Amino acid sequence: MGKTGTCQLCKKETVLELSHLIPKFIFRWIKETGTGYMRTSDNFNKRIQDGFKEYFLCANCEDLFSSDENYFAKNIFLPVVKADTKVLEYDHRFYRCVVSIFWRVLKHKILAEEKDQIFYPVLCALEEKWRLGLLNPEWKPQDNRLHLLSGVDVVEVIEDDPVEVPELMIQYMGRMVDAGIADSDTKCMLFLKMPRFLFIYEIFGFDQVDFIRTCINPKGGHYDRNSAKITDTDVGGFFLERVKMVEKMFNDMSPFQREKIQNFTDQKRSEVQDKDLGKILGYTQKKSNKT
Ligand SMILES: [Zn+2]
Repeated sequence: MGKTGTCQLCKKETVLELSHLIPKFIFRWIKETGTGYMRTSDNFNKRIQDGFKEYFLCANCEDLFSSDENYFAKNIFLPVVKADTKVLEYDHRFYRCVVSIFWRVLKHKILAEEKDQIFYPVLCALEEKWRLGLLNPEWKPQDNRLHLLSGVDVVEVIEDDPVEVPELMIQYMGRMVDAGIADSDTKCMLFLKMPRFLFIYEIFGFDQVDFIRTCINPKGGHYDRNSAKITDTDVGGFFLERVKMVEKMFNDMSPFQREKIQNFTDQKRSEVQDKDLGKILGYTQKKSNKT
């Protein structure tokens, strides 16, 4: 059921496979640990969902990606979502896999949207650099721009400068998938959000001192989420706004639509109690009772 075209990674004219922008195992996990459906409070980002399958890789390149994805699923993703693992020992495949997802989203979504923006040439150069790197199985570049925050409690509110944290924040960190670019005239970063993981790729205008032990080393390394911290307030501000926007999308839905989702969730609540979704909803409740 392939289609002929140019593979976006190796540039060969060949039969293309229907590939996932965001690895399939992530959506499978969201379905299995929630209501069984994607269109519930689990996930609002329609854009990502509608565009997550495209004909853009040949079978060889798809295989190249899937071995890194298997490593990521087994050694990083599942231990964190299932056992709340806080310390990760990883090899070069972690960086490769995350960059391959960033590359897919950059190539298929972001470049088209950023055509008239000032960072467009920089983004095109990055896309090409990643493409060539990903084609080489031995690729281990010098790079300290890929950062990770993991877990569900990633916002630390400082007493001197209190900010309002949207209630949906825990669910956003816990279970949602989101990806895109954040840029101003002076700063630019890509972000990739999957359940329990928020990856940031800084492109321009950031100060390394604001990224404390968040870096994912291309050669492999050690990551401890308890000491990882981003102190750049633009980064924090961006995600607070992003989550408020998702919250607003929910509130702006027609009352009928909203009621349907609400009833659906209530009905299913008992079914999901022991699953990850129930755990996250319960934790949200606990946190909001406290404040
Ligand atoms: Zn290819």
